[in-house]
Amino acid sequence: SYPSPRPTSPGGLSPYDKDAPIHTVDEFINGFMDELNFGRGVSLARSSRNDQYIALSKAVRQNLQARWMKTLARQYEEQAKSVAYLSAEYLLGRQLDNALLATGMTDVVEEGLDALGLSLDRLRAQETEPGLGNGGLGRLAACFVDSLATMSVPCIGYGIRYEYGIFRQEFEDGWQVEHSDRWLALGNPWEFPHPEHAVTVHFGGSTETYTDDRGRERTRWLPAWDVQGVPYNYMVPGYRNGRVNTLRLWSARATRAFDLRIFNAGDYVEAVRAQTFAENISKVLYPEDSTPQGKELRLQQQYFFVACSLRDQLENVLPKYFDLANLPDRVIFQLNDTHPVIAIPELMRLLVDEKGMEWDDAWAITQKCFAYTCHTLLPEALEVWSVELLGKLLPRHLEIIYKINEIFLDEVRAAYPGDEIKLRRMSIITDHPERSVRMAYLATIAGSKVNGVAALHSELLRDKVLPDFSAYWPDKFTNVTNGITPRRFIRLSNPGLSDLITQTLGDEGWVTDLERLRELEPHADDPAFREKFRQVKAANKQTLAQVLSTRDNITLPTDVMYDVMVKRLHEYKRQTLKLLHIVTLYEQILSGKVAVEDVMPRAFLFGAKAAPGYRIAKEIIALINAVGKTVNNDPQVQGRLTVAFPANYNVTLAERLIPAADLSEQISLAGKEASGTGNMKFALNGALTIGTDDGANVEIRQLVGDDNFFLFGMLEPEVEATIAEGYSPVSVYENNPQLKATIDLIASGHFSDGDRNRFEPVISNLLGEDRFLALADYAAYLEAQQRVEAAYADPDDWSRKAILNVARSGFFSSDRSMVDYIDRIWHTPAITQ
Ligand code: PLP
Repeated sequence: SYPSPRPTSPGGLSPYDKDAPIHTVDEFINGFMDELNFGRGVSLARSSRNDQYIALSKAVRQNLQARWMKTLARQYEEQAKSVAYLSAEYLLGRQLDNALLATGMTDVVEEGLDALGLSLDRLRAQETEPGLGNGGLGRLAACFVDSLATMSVPCIGYGIRYEYGIFRQEFEDGWQVEHSDRWLALGNPWEFPHPEHAVTVHFGGSTETYTDDRGRERTRWLPAWDVQGVPYNYMVPGYRNGRVNTLRLWSARATRAFDLRIFNAGDYVEAVRAQTFAENISKVLYPEDSTPQGKELRLQQQYFFVACSLRDQLENVLPKYFDLANLPDRVIFQLNDTHPVIAIPELMRLLVDEKGMEWDDAWAITQKCFAYTCHTLLPEALEVWSVELLGKLLPRHLEIIYKINEIFLDEVRAAYPGDEIKLRRMSIITDHPERSVRMAYLATIAGSKVNGVAALHSELLRDKVLPDFSAYWPDKFTNVTNGITPRRFIRLSNPGLSDLITQTLGDEGWVTDLERLRELEPHADDPAFREKFRQVKAANKQTLAQVLSTRDNITLPTDVMYDVMVKRLHEYKRQTLKLLHIVTLYEQILSGKVAVEDVMPRAFLFGAKAAPGYRIAKEIIALINAVGKTVNNDPQVQGRLTVAFPANYNVTLAERLIPAADLSEQISLAGKEASGTGNMKFALNGALTIGTDDGANVEIRQLVGDDNFFLFGMLEPEVEATIAEGYSPVSVYENNPQLKATIDLIASGHFSDGDRNRFEPVISNLLGEDRFLALADYAAYLEAQQRVEAAYADPDDWSRKAILNVARSGFFSSDRSMVDYIDRIWHTPAITQ
């Protein structure tokens, strides 16, 4: 049951939507003023911008709350199977805009605020985005929960409420400096804490065997310490469908706040030590993307959130006296990469140790309840935990993992008699470089399905990363190409293009049926439509230039091509290759090889955070900034080349940058980027891609067509062959005079006030190792950039290509990804209204 909504104006509730109290401007003003006066305790005259933002958010959320309770009630009544999405990261982006969009309240709110002398734009800028993720993986989780709500599929997202999210990046002398992300400092109107539903999570200690009352030998865990997980609920609104799903993030709290005896004895620091220790678990997001660090606190985080989530499912979500044999009919736990994989032995522990089930029965249930998404191809990114650490923190789980492994290896032995090497290759436990647990193997063995995140990635996953497993269980492996939510990444971020699409297609149905963008195809040949399309892009560039001017004090020309590379800074993504292109263009001007009038004007935009401990990535950031400073201030360039690197790339900035882009840089070394989702966002917003045959670029190119995509570079098998032949970056450098001149210009100290040593680490990394073959692809990249320039010189043809990119990107809606997960993995029906 849920409370009926409270009317906030004499007008009462509108007959067409009983679940939302606010429909008219007056109702909004009443709701807003109530929240301000009685929620914040201030008058309008004395309210701060933060008071106003919080009151506004709480007024808007009123229109979601009854729907939320109704969704939960309906789900409970139907006993529907639901998706429990387990993800250590959710890179949500700002909530207010999304709630306004989902509820359709924007116009009413704008008008109401205007009447009060307030501005929606100013208040929305007050929100600090919840940066609870590093990049693509966390943003994917956010897109997926949005799509499931929009498709009325029961889902609960589980994760961690980090007190500090991804660090805020600033530049000092071009060098990245990290600042803590105090996103909760001014209050968070979007969360609902429920300390009364805290869950206890145990750690450490030992195990013992005993005989139960039925005479069976059993094991139990005698943990040494515990913490509590407090759930914080967030609403995940569907797009105008009256449904609101839940995201439940866990915050760690000490079981006992402090030790009064120690406190009374006067040792105040020691008295709160346990509290500090416990609360550290959800204190901060690890800022590593792609390369896990294997730290104990990280394992604590992982176990903490999955232990809370499993207990929540078994004890709160399911009805009392539920027969756990039927668990697979009620829930599927989707593991977003290996971070939540410790949930597998945890479910086994709950079923066997706590519920008294037999091992085989518990295993049969567990195998049906989990599915695993792998997100990588980099060997160093496959998570392992040392047996020593795991045994210390989770001794019972280690025993369970050993037993799972033992039974599995018996099966393998029977299938491949005498093949000891295969046995060692497939073991969850490896002895090198130290005795460790391979989490991806555990997930593969236990999961009902294993999926890669783009067609090429799934193929490489099968053939290169987990070949023994895919030979053993060919049907277990599947592909689900990633997707992006069209709500946030076009409808919200690109209102100009959205309006043009709606006008052209006649209605807004495309927002939830993105394949309808195909209807734009014939308009690509219509000069009037192309003109409107160009106007939208030009306006988006103006908006971006204004944003960067106030946000970063960056001056950006608005009448040039915007060439954009935004993503985490990682060697495999090859920001250095982009930089070599820029320095090449610049060197050609300096050396007089190309007359400056013949250089096509471009603005190169970067956005990238480097993991704080990733030394070479930070050097690359400094080099980009140094090149930018020199090029932007060199009168010889005559403003033809501009390099802009706004700090702190995040979802909010992405929403501005992507709609303004002409060219999308997706230039990872083939076979290294699992999928990418930034690439999809650019294509959907009408940027053309210059890219390698990697990740989802492959599918983008197939869909938009070769003529509308600038492909370059080695293919994955060529990469392998080049490395096998003994790749020598120095000889590539020696044999390509332009490349040599470009690298020499950097080495000469031209970008570092004559200091030749300043960028030596980057140069020697490139010439000495070049692990990701940037030099090998350099010539092909420059040639592709020339094709880009030739195409851009014909604005009509360029617009045609860009429109076709939009029209053919419908496949990349995360709604489609959800359909694939449901068909291939989850088998969860949508709930009826
Ligand atoms: N970081 C942010 C803030 C994003 O919005 C995205 C977009 O998907 C990513 C990282 C991932 O980018 P890419 O797929 O290019 O690695």
